[in-house]
Amino acid sequence: MSESVTSGAMGMTVESAFAGMTSVTPVVFRAGCPDCRERFELTASALRLAIGATSRTTFYSFTCPECGASVRKPAGERIVELLTGGGVRTLRLHSTL
Ligand SMILES: [Zn+2]
Repeated sequence: MSESVTSGAMGMTVESAFAGMTSVTPVVFRAGCPDCRERFELTASALRLAIGATSRTTFYSFTCPECGASVRKPAGERIVELLTGGGVRTLRLHSTL
């Protein structure tokens, strides 16, 4: 039901995501497009993470490689950890941290 970045097929954990930063193997994130329902793997450079003041304004976004749709989805704490650990470009929408 709820789409999110998962790493099920790869069996990737937060630990291996961090390990990916020092290895030559690029970290990939599995994501799905709500528009064309395609599922695909995205590298960290294809994703953007925006961290807002609350979880409601924290989301990640990417462009669907299949249909070109701009996809934006809420990012929970764990997803934020995965994405930042995997080297995804992060934009902080507030600077009070
Ligand atoms: Zn699509």
